[in-house]
Amino acid sequence: MSAQPQSTIEEKLFTVKYKPGPSSHLIPDQNDCQRCPTKACNFFCPANVYEWDARQQKTLVAYENCFECGACRLGCTYQSIEWFYPDDGHGVTFKLG
Ligand code: SF4
Ligand code: SF4
Repeated sequence: MSAQPQSTIEEKLFTVKYKPGPSSHLIPDQNDCQRCPTKACNFFCPANVYEWDARQQKTLVAYENCFECGACRLGCTYQSIEWFYPDDGHGVTFKLG
């Protein structure tokens, strides 16, 4: 039996529907981000929401792609990401499962 090919993160994200709110529901403390030795959020988020921008010295947040899994509340090295559910009617809808 041949192994099934692995889906890329982009293919998996295509199975999820989003209605982004007008502003981010994820707010990292940028002072903590600047001193953060791990930039852990760049690695544990399943939706690749966080990206450290060395030129701007800030964490960029693609909140529109958030799965609302809550992992970043625990996984942030300083536990300093402010996290809210998006306002009613906004956020993620899982189309499969
Ligand atoms: S893990 Fe937390 S403090 Fe570190 S870069 Fe990410 S959001 Fe900022
Ligand atoms: S809640 Fe989950 S999907 Fe959303 S930004 Fe945090 S880790 Fe990523």
